[in-house]
Amino acid sequence: MLGRIKNWQRNRILRHEGVPEQLWRKLIHLRCLKGFNVDELSQLRDCVTLFLHAKQINGAHELEITDEMRVVIAIQACILILKLDLDYYENWIEIIVYPDDFIRDFNFADSSGIVHHVHTIASGESWLAGPVILSWRDITHAADHPGHNVVIHEFAHKIDMLNDGANGCPELHPNMNTHTWYEIFSQAYHKFCQQVEYGQGLIIDPYAAESPAEFFAVLSEVFFELPLIIKHHFPLIYEQLALFYRQDPAQRWEKTKPNNKLSRPEQK
Ligand SMILES: [Zn+2]
Repeated sequence: MLGRIKNWQRNRILRHEGVPEQLWRKLIHLRCLKGFNVDELSQLRDCVTLFLHAKQINGAHELEITDEMRVVIAIQACILILKLDLDYYENWIEIIVYPDDFIRDFNFADSSGIVHHVHTIASGESWLAGPVILSWRDITHAADHPGHNVVIHEFAHKIDMLNDGANGCPELHPNMNTHTWYEIFSQAYHKFCQQVEYGQGLIIDPYAAESPAEFFAVLSEVFFELPLIIKHHFPLIYEQLALFYRQDPAQRWEKTKPNNKLSRPEQK
């Protein structure tokens, strides 16, 4: 019964609040949509409509949020859950968008009870059961930096957090194995940390070495932005991400003969 009510509500929103055709056509050329077929685009458009109905996107520091900005953010957030469900983003509402990088300034207590003060500059941030915070400059900047996508990065954290906080292992599907995921990601993470330490040729953003959670978020960015990079350099991880997101973006890219080149990594 609840499922039927939910479907009725979703259909009503899709009928009355759909993304305008002109705006949709303008934005479906984002790099992360390369190779999407008609059915996938239609499914994504519905997901974007439902997402925008459920979320509030507010500008900080007097940034005015336009319809185009709302849809740009929603498209990239919805790519991750295209074959999952909008419920992955439930229990929180707000997305705050700063014009530029913003300052994170807070105290936290570690497991020993010692209080630490954090004061850093960031381009994105996700709170457990709280808002997602984004820098608009970094969202637009991503167009010139293949492989970098702050929206996908932060929403990957949101998905990861659903399973005991952000730890690099989201709640896996029944056809997946937690031990296999842990083994594959742990080995790749430790090898990557060594490469960062020795300054060896890095394939992805060295920020991924910060923690297993950042490793998962950065790999998710590249998985959707430049999937052939992940498939070639991290084939076992590619398999796990494809199983988890239920998508095979490399297959989409292989059809389009892309310039699959990663730009120079940047600190986030
Ligand atoms: Zn992160």
